[in-house]
Amino acid sequence: MTIEIRRMERILAISQELISTSSLETILHNIVQAATELTDCESAAILLLDENTPNTLRFAAVALYEDRLFDIPVPIDASIAGAAFIHDQPIIVNDAQNDPRYYARVGDLIGYHARSLLAVPLKFQDRKIGVLEAENKRNAQPFDETDAQVLTALAVQATIAIENARQVTRYKQLAQSEQAERQMAEALHQASSAFSSTLDYDQVIDRILEQVGQVIPHDTSNVMIIEEGNLVRVFRGRGYARFGTLETLTETTLDIARVPIFQKMRVTRQPVVVPDVTQEADWVYSRPEHQWIRSYVGAPIIIGDQVIGFLNVNSATVNAYGQIDATRLQTFAYHAAVAIANARLYQQAQKEITERIQAQAALQQERDHLEEIVQERTAELHQLAITDPLTVTFNRRHFAILGEQMFQHARRYQHPLAALMLDIDHFKKINDRYGHAVGDLVLKKLAEYLHNNLRAADVLGRYGGEEFVVLMPETDLKTARQIAERLCHGIRALTTDTLRGPLRFTVSIGVAALNPTHDATLDELIQRADRAMYAAKQRGRNRVCAY
Ligand code: GH3
Ligand code: MG
Ligand code: MG
Repeated sequence: MTIEIRRMERILAISQELISTSSLETILHNIVQAATELTDCESAAILLLDENTPNTLRFAAVALYEDRLFDIPVPIDASIAGAAFIHDQPIIVNDAQNDPRYYARVGDLIGYHARSLLAVPLKFQDRKIGVLEAENKRNAQPFDETDAQVLTALAVQATIAIENARQVTRYKQLAQSEQAERQMAEALHQASSAFSSTLDYDQVIDRILEQVGQVIPHDTSNVMIIEEGNLVRVFRGRGYARFGTLETLTETTLDIARVPIFQKMRVTRQPVVVPDVTQEADWVYSRPEHQWIRSYVGAPIIIGDQVIGFLNVNSATVNAYGQIDATRLQTFAYHAAVAIANARLYQQAQKEITERIQAQAALQQERDHLEEIVQERTAELHQLAITDPLTVTFNRRHFAILGEQMFQHARRYQHPLAALMLDIDHFKKINDRYGHAVGDLVLKKLAEYLHNNLRAADVLGRYGGEEFVVLMPETDLKTARQIAERLCHGIRALTTDTLRGPLRFTVSIGVAALNPTHDATLDELIQRADRAMYAAKQRGRNRVCAY
């Protein structure tokens, strides 16, 4: 018997329909529907070769009273469908219950056993891919040769449609994964250059969080840094404000031992993905406010051989993440770790430099201080070397040095220069009567008076016990004499308080002026002043005598 024209036309129409879609699910559904229609049977099924399990066919589509797909493996070597597959030809069984090849398990499970059964192999070129089956379960209507031919014809069209759809799916998957890989590589590259473009530690972490969304879409993300021992602190978070927590989440510190997922990442150094937190025994919420989290993926941040923290990504959508996201996040975390390590090194270097600068500054300060002290001491020593401590006037040696310069200058440029020699009258008596201490007081008083009543340019020196010498530049004999008179007068009026009442004293002053033709040395000038002073003594003291 041959297929009548009507069924032939129907098969052609069905084949057009099958090829018009590339959805495998639709194709499989249409095939089993067509099979029941064309063979006028109660149920039909497609069983496809299971690539992963040897010797096994699996239900890919079933048309029954209600379209129920059951996942029961059907052994090739112990079933009628398997026989059609092995022998590569249609098999008609019209008394299935008594056929030794009948595989009863499926019928046991669904509660209907096939009475008549028609199985045709699905073969694409030389490759057998499965079996198309038509069954009658309730009525005993048998299949005939024409049904076998019709179903075989349908099987040819069905195989082409299935393989075509599989091919399209394969290409799509390939293209999708290639595109995804490219996007991922691009995102990683961008991310990595974004957070490597700064060495500021905080900025690096901010950018890591900015960029992680390019790689793994999420609701919130955070970077946790292990502090000491088991403590881990949220260094920075992102996206939390939307869920009623502090946006940056920086106040959370956790004990790693209390969060199994962190513990696991720390030990295994591998990322952890939790597609559905409600199904994960290890899941604990780090904070009660985070109950909205449904899906999680995290990766350890590893520097050298140490896990220094975690990069966590959360989604409010269940099953937002799978294994691929874990792998991606880990790759991202590798890049992030490099940037963090660099920022840490830089920070450390900066700290060291700052410390060194501070240490140097402290050292310099110490040095400056010491130098100041040395300068002060040197000045003090110099002062001690050039002054007489009692009267704070230049000592004889220093007076000689200063005086010599002044003398030479005046002589060379023919400038006037005058010298005074001053001696306290009857000073021995003062010492005898009032004591040596009062004598010292008188000396101080006199020096002070002289200081206050001479010009800044005049040079005052203590010449001997109670003898003082004064050199007065730009001063001729007449002026010098006037000055001496004034001094003599002023000194006479000075009073010093003593236990024995107020004490007054007088001085005798000798005056001499530089005579460039006579005076060859300072000593000669001073000697003449000294002689004038003696003259004053001889004339009764308490007076001025000019040479
Ligand atoms: P004249 O009027 O002739 O100068 O009489 P004089 O007593 O002042 O005589 P003379 O100049 O010979 O005496 C100086 C005395 O000054 C001698 C010494 O005991 C005293 N004398 C010198 N240096 C100091 C000093 O530093 N302190 C005190 N208290 N006395 C001094
Ligand atoms: Mg005297
Ligand atoms: Mg004297």
